[in-house]
Amino acid sequence: MPGREFQFIHTYFRNALADSPEVRCGIGDDAAVIDVPPGMELVLSMDTLVDGIHFPAGTSPEDIGYKSLAVNLSDMAAMGAEPRWISLSLTVPDADEGWLQQFMDGFTGLARRHSLSLVGGDLTHGPLSITVQIHGLLPPGQALYRHGARPGDRIYVSGTLGDAGMALDMLQASTNADDINQDILQKLARPVPRVELGLALRGIASSAIDISDGLLSDLEHIVTASRVGAAVNIQKIPVSNALKDYRDTADFAIAAGDDYELCFTAAPEKDSRLAELEKSYPIACIGEITEDAGIRWLQADGSEYIPARVAYSHF
Ligand code: ADP
Ligand code: MG
Repeated sequence: MPGREFQFIHTYFRNALADSPEVRCGIGDDAAVIDVPPGMELVLSMDTLVDGIHFPAGTSPEDIGYKSLAVNLSDMAAMGAEPRWISLSLTVPDADEGWLQQFMDGFTGLARRHSLSLVGGDLTHGPLSITVQIHGLLPPGQALYRHGARPGDRIYVSGTLGDAGMALDMLQASTNADDINQDILQKLARPVPRVELGLALRGIASSAIDISDGLLSDLEHIVTASRVGAAVNIQKIPVSNALKDYRDTADFAIAAGDDYELCFTAAPEKDSRLAELEKSYPIACIGEITEDAGIRWLQADGSEYIPARVAYSHF
């Protein structure tokens, strides 16, 4: 489809977003050229969404466009990086211009909110799949890694957990998506990446990760990378009233994925700075990093909770 491919690139990608001043060459040449500000660290991340796996059948093109960028922004947030430039690789089953336009509406709507430039990509024919590469910036030494947690650090999460999992559960159980509360569906379709919180956590958090596969699995990544353990008070995990009404909340809050909230740790000396942050962001302390390896999930009466669900795994 070379002729149409160029037409598509011109129509849907080339002028979709404004180039920031650092973009020496964006879409149109063999590769993009960016003038990375001197002394800054370049932070790269890539995520792919595959039809039927990362979004349920029936997801609108706008929501797919939005989410393919949101999950990448969430990775920047988890590193404390400022997102700047994106590349978009699209594999589409047919040349449906209506679909492309709607996809790009969802994609660019979110990109504009973060002043991102689209600097390149690819367009191929095949089963629907979307890959976004995101490029961000960090002052040297300020990245929020998974490996920085220390015994005695407090463990925090942002927002409420389990809402996206609840929405997916409702979709899978229902025959008519229109019957489901729109606010709940939005949690799955349009997660809001915690980019600003990630930036605010520079110099405060000792480690961070975004909760894409569920706290069970993502906190495990922090304790493994940091060679520590954790004790989490389940009743302190923030959950929405909608989830409380829906079902046994603990398993959803721990094991369900797709929330794109942040989980991070901070030393007790940072308490006053966290109290300050709490005025602007919904964050809750849910436990503590321990010297002993492994994660202990504690109930209100102090007894140990054994999670019933296991985290989602692709393989
Ligand atoms: P090449 O054959 O050298 O890979 P392409 O013909 O694939 O180049 O792409 C031409 C230009 O359009 C390149 O600058 C590429 O980055 C850009 N481009 C192609 N597809 C997309 C897309 N989906 N989004 C943004 N830019 C794209
Ligand atoms: Mg190409």
